[in-house]
Amino acid sequence: MAQVKFENVSKRYGSTSILENFNLEIRDKEFLVLVGPSGCGKSTTLRMIAGLETVSSGKLLIGDTIVNKVAPRDRNIAMVFQDYALYPHLTVADNMAFGLKMQGVPKQEIQDKVSDVSKTLGLEELLQRKPKQLSGGQRQRVAIGRAIVRNPKVFLFDEPLSNLDAKLRVQMRVEISRLHKTLNTTIVYVTHDQIEAMTLADRIVVMKDGYIQQVGTPIELYEKP
Ligand code: ADP
Ligand code: ADP
Repeated sequence: MAQVKFENVSKRYGSTSILENFNLEIRDKEFLVLVGPSGCGKSTTLRMIAGLETVSSGKLLIGDTIVNKVAPRDRNIAMVFQDYALYPHLTVADNMAFGLKMQGVPKQEIQDKVSDVSKTLGLEELLQRKPKQLSGGQRQRVAIGRAIVRNPKVFLFDEPLSNLDAKLRVQMRVEISRLHKTLNTTIVYVTHDQIEAMTLADRIVVMKDGYIQQVGTPIELYEKP
């Protein structure tokens, strides 16, 4: 079953066409990686799923629902950004709790959830720190934690590891892969890094100039003679 479906979606800014008749089905629980040169439309694709960009024409479905006009908070989607986008004045705990508070989730439930997820991600000792008191990898974990607590149907990752050093990148890659198995959820992940794509993806979508050039498993794309 498709979890996210683009049906003849086009995206224009004024008279500039970014995506033209884009068709893509993202399967339930799959780890889908989008790759392609800078400017080919990867972020735009993610941002349309999140509801941060409108669809100019065509249909975008999440599950059975056409979400073209559904607000981001009603889509049950969480996005992790390259720059983490944490609130600098809030503690780790409050950063993780923020979205749930906005949804009016009861306080005790929020505390339990944040406590649970912080254990999963090794953040229990850091809950009272502010983001600037954290290393890059820790910030990234908080950003992921903030997404997990909301229990989303779909996780979107926009180059989440590109600001980390090489060692941490490998470590976080392993963690994200483990997370996908633990959470048993759908992930759409943008990266420039071919190794990341090959190790994480169930399927890879290669984009170019706003269209899909190739789709396949890592083996189909990179190991064919
Ligand atoms: P990628 O993530 O693959 O690097 P993007 O999706 O960010 O590519 O961008 C795709 C194209 O859309 C680029 O040519 C970019 O300049 C253009 N673009 C992105 N956002 C806007 C905007 N708000 N207004 C006009 N053009 C934009
Ligand atoms: P990185 O080089 O990966 O960014 P840092 O050298 O900044 O890591 O941090 C190393 C350790 O020191 C981390 O465990 C981090 O939590 C801790 N740390 C960094 N800055 C502060 C701070 N201002 N207050 C308390 N602990 C900090």
